[in-house]
Amino acid sequence: MDNINQVLIVGGTHGNELSGIYLNKLIKERLYNIDRASFSASSVIANPDAVKANTRFVEQDLNRQFSLELEANSKEARLATEFKNNYCANNPLIIDLHNTTSNMGATLILLSNSPFYKKMGAYVKQRMPGSNILFEDRKEWNEQPYLCTASQYGVMIEVGAQAHGSLQFETLELMKEMLSLVLDYVDKHNLYQLSNLANYDAFYYTEEVQIPMDHDGMRIAAVHPTICGRDFEVVKTGEPIMATFFGFDIYWEKENDIYPHFINESAYSSANIAMALAEKKTVFVD
Ligand SMILES: [Zn+2]
Repeated sequence: MDNINQVLIVGGTHGNELSGIYLNKLIKERLYNIDRASFSASSVIANPDAVKANTRFVEQDLNRQFSLELEANSKEARLATEFKNNYCANNPLIIDLHNTTSNMGATLILLSNSPFYKKMGAYVKQRMPGSNILFEDRKEWNEQPYLCTASQYGVMIEVGAQAHGSLQFETLELMKEMLSLVLDYVDKHNLYQLSNLANYDAFYYTEEVQIPMDHDGMRIAAVHPTICGRDFEVVKTGEPIMATFFGFDIYWEKENDIYPHFINESAYSSANIAMALAEKKTVFVD
């Protein structure tokens, strides 16, 4: 693939996820360095009105407005069109910064399984062993709804647990560390200096788990207390994933081990999503 000559770092795609918004401020004030030898980099706030209102979005989720076939006419749909027109031609790589209320630590979300991303995961995981590499590669690039897919290449950095609308020092530090590694990786990729990448374990998104509801649209269960706060920890066949209010549990019944994440993410609460599930696989980079 070609060298990446320009990188756009995006905060405030969700207006109440403060780590990326404040990292953007640190970049502007030159308190955090995004310069590398082989490319130029800049940063931008994607949804300033949502940031001002300290809310995820004003009318619609901006981070779901970027699949090609979408025809919405909300404020965020128009913002998505503007974003594409203003930034995408000149920035082949977008790094989009997010927070989650789930206890996911620093997670690098990769939307394609191509060698460029597999190697990026290896580079980051090797230098930040506590981080998680999550592939969400089930859709074609053009069908992905996420802002970071507006250009040719894109990734998301997702850091938590942090309540939306709040800002924790440690979460910001984790985001800085992971962003620096992604920028270093792109630099080394451009300069043909990538070597000694090791195979690693990564998570591959499989499905979401809906919270069961009654006829009045009220929940009849919650995430099982044994997995709350334990994102990316294994759940095996026969282990509980939900606890109903009637006194019995709902168990994971399939034969494969699964790794819940985005557990109780508050932004997914209105859609009654309990968690997402992933499988763990070894990624081979050599
Ligand atoms: Zn977000």
